[in-house]
Amino acid sequence: MFEKILIANRGEIALRVLRACRELGIKTVAVHSEADTEAKYVKLADESVCIGPAPSAQSYLNVPAIISAAEVTDSEAIHPGYGFLSENADFAERVEQSGFVFIGPKPETIRSMGDKVAAKNAMKAAGVPCVPGSDGALPDNPKEIVAIAKKIGYPVIVKASGGGGGRGMRVVHTEAALLNAVATTQAEAQAAFGNPMVYMEKYLENPRHVEIQILADEHGNAVYLGERDCSMQRRHQKVIEEAPAPNIDRKLIATTGERCAKACRKIGYRGAGTFEFLYEKGEFFFIEMNTRVQVEHPVTEFITGIDIVQTQIRVAAGEKLPFRQRDIQFHGHAVECRINAEDPFKFTPSPGRITDWHTPGGPGVRVDSHVYADYMVPPHYDSMIGKLITYGDTREQAIRRMRIALSEMVVGGIKTNVPLHQALMLDAQFLKGGASIHYLEERLADINELKVD
Ligand code: ADP
Repeated sequence: MFEKILIANRGEIALRVLRACRELGIKTVAVHSEADTEAKYVKLADESVCIGPAPSAQSYLNVPAIISAAEVTDSEAIHPGYGFLSENADFAERVEQSGFVFIGPKPETIRSMGDKVAAKNAMKAAGVPCVPGSDGALPDNPKEIVAIAKKIGYPVIVKASGGGGGRGMRVVHTEAALLNAVATTQAEAQAAFGNPMVYMEKYLENPRHVEIQILADEHGNAVYLGERDCSMQRRHQKVIEEAPAPNIDRKLIATTGERCAKACRKIGYRGAGTFEFLYEKGEFFFIEMNTRVQVEHPVTEFITGIDIVQTQIRVAAGEKLPFRQRDIQFHGHAVECRINAEDPFKFTPSPGRITDWHTPGGPGVRVDSHVYADYMVPPHYDSMIGKLITYGDTREQAIRRMRIALSEMVVGGIKTNVPLHQALMLDAQFLKGGASIHYLEERLADINELKVD
């Protein structure tokens, strides 16, 4: 096992990784920007290194500074968390070339999964169900493009192979609009991602977002840890996640999960990963793979009892997965609310000093947050200040506990989206389970009128 790990991230995930390291008896190095000097995990870490000024480009994305920090502290491995450099194949490569272990998949795996056409081809070949669409990148010939769209059937979605973060996509409803849309998406893709390659898929009109968590080691073992429903989204940002996904045939989940695990064995995947699917009318359609730990991993930890972050570290150190598929048991239900420093209904960011901070507790309640009273939420980063996760024997119990937990949560000095979560925990469609990815945006206006405070 490693003696010392450098955590190349900030906020709640830095603290989450730090806790996993401490439990494994591993020393930690926190790297931080000038804006995060006072952060709790920076104080809790065995060592800390300032890697630059507040803007991420000069600190959390500053590869030379992070590598030097690993060198001066004699770290053995680097955990990238999520966001920032976590899915940057060049970074993973630099880490390995500098003699450190990257806690994640091999750089070439990250690279091929980051290229959506390559990822989709690999998944199709491994038997993972994909959204019907073009066979790889679109050809240059306009007639062929028109023919492909006709075969798929409108509406279609044109997507950039190098795209990410919900950018580089365009829905097309008619043949008249097709070629223009392809040309615009290509131009945007070239400008934003340096790669003009685009492909086409059937546009699913009312899907749910359901994803499968996997864990794999470098000895050819891979398991799936069930699914998460992350359909409650605003502008492609997840707001609430839960596991299991309500009202989906368990046999279908098992078959899809098995296929994902098999695909991991086939591509030599290592570490934690997530297969993202759109789910519509009883079918799963792969859209992309995330080659890192996800924000929403705690709901899976609750229902499986498996520590995903610790397992990431163990397999990075070369250990075998400590369980097989048949050892993984699913119990109960878990729900996660992302707590953001923002206006609950207008969504304007609300950075600033937190004057009061009281977190809920009791059976089945977990709070993952780096925040404390008198903490200053910096304006430079993502607005998420923590995650509230509840567990119950049933979905109803997990939701009841979430309502209680939200009512106990006190955050003074800044605005948060707690009132939005309180409204959603009473929302009839959410309570029914199985809302589509468009539901939250469609309902926000109505929820606004509820004026829950
Ligand atoms: P990104 O890497 O930018 O997040 P994804 O491929 O994961 O791109 O797609 C992001 C979101 O776009 C999905 O969660 C979904 O809401 C929408 N989307 C993508 N592909 C389709 C599709 N074929 N049909 C309907 N919606 C889609």
